[in-house]
Amino acid sequence: MSKLSDRINNLAESQTLAMTKKSRELQAQGIDIINLSIGEPDFATPDFIKDAAKEAIDNNFTHYTPVAGCLDLRKAISVKFKRDNNLMYAADQVVVSTGAKQSIANVILSMVNPGEEVIVPIPYWVSYIETIKLAEGIPVTIPTSIESNFKITPEQLKKAITPKTKMMVFSTPCNPSGSVYSKEELKAIAEVIIQFPDLYIISDEIYEHINFAGKHESIAQFDFIYERVITVNGMSKGFAMTGWRIGYIGAPKWISDACEKMQGQFTSGTSSISQMAALAAAKADPSVTVKMCKEFKKRRDLVLGLLKEIPGIKTNIPDGAFYIFFDISFYFGKSFEKYHINNSHDLSLYLLDIGNVALVSGDAFGDDNCMRFSYATSEDKLIEAVKRVKEALSKLK
Ligand code: PMP
Ligand code: GLU
Repeated sequence: MSKLSDRINNLAESQTLAMTKKSRELQAQGIDIINLSIGEPDFATPDFIKDAAKEAIDNNFTHYTPVAGCLDLRKAISVKFKRDNNLMYAADQVVVSTGAKQSIANVILSMVNPGEEVIVPIPYWVSYIETIKLAEGIPVTIPTSIESNFKITPEQLKKAITPKTKMMVFSTPCNPSGSVYSKEELKAIAEVIIQFPDLYIISDEIYEHINFAGKHESIAQFDFIYERVITVNGMSKGFAMTGWRIGYIGAPKWISDACEKMQGQFTSGTSSISQMAALAAAKADPSVTVKMCKEFKKRRDLVLGLLKEIPGIKTNIPDGAFYIFFDISFYFGKSFEKYHINNSHDLSLYLLDIGNVALVSGDAFGDDNCMRFSYATSEDKLIEAVKRVKEALSKLK
């Protein structure tokens, strides 16, 4: 009998974090690895946010906060939802958590019963599937392709719905594809969901501020679907605050109440100091994120241009986030020395060993033909990384 629970034995490790751990270990051994596996901005957290945190410490704001987050912060997030997304969430419809990761886990664990199905378009962010499995739900995936810009159609969605479907979870801008759903595309998805009573959507909008296509659109903006949407967001990506661990939801009150109850047993309110930093970020004019977004776009164009020079690689043009999800299936069946490439996982290990570049294999996101390249690092490193990938791939025959 296993000493550990079936629950943990059946849980896959987060492959984004596993690859990052591996590259940190190699770096600690003195190997010059370029780590493009973790999705986090390389920018420093803006000074005004850091100052707010320092002030919180100096003011002894260091005790337990309300489970759902300090009222001031929830009020500021409520104003932010209206200001940036035209969404009306009162402060008591907002729950602040230890990263958007916990926000998503709260919702899934609060809403999904064993045996209920959760629709997840491919490619998906790694943690959706495992969290659904933890809730004993059944992930039902919808395939997409590079040709459709990795977006699902309303017809595909309708086909995937069964009497057991509880919800759909997706991200826009998407990790890992960078795809951004337009207002019309979101409306078409909402029009399918609304035909089925008791069907919900988790709309993960953590990359809201990293959008090169124009204005960010939230699916909850359509009045007819508002009651069925849980909008997830956070400070990690747009404000370069990954380590502060602040995510949040806006949701119908019965769902935010459930998430508060769940969180009250797992973690309580998140760090009081981080909440004061997040308050500064939430109140800030969103234009503070624009400079970083422009820089990401420059890097995207740089990497897309460089990847074009590598034979066999297929890319689309991602409109947001900071990832390129490119097709590398051309290299399957090829070999170099002891390395035989049968899938994206083999290729990621090969690129780590021979190219000293850490990317995440597409199977982690549900599409084994692809690899995820995070371009959230300096131009010099990006140029060097693509050069290394190109050289390593050229050895495969
Ligand atoms: N959703 C998506 C799509 C993500 O890429 C991530 C990871 N950064 C998260 C949620 C979780 O973010 P956080 O760091 O706020 O937990
Ligand atoms: N979300 C980021 C990524 O996809 C951070 C790592 C993680 O939490 O999965 O790389």
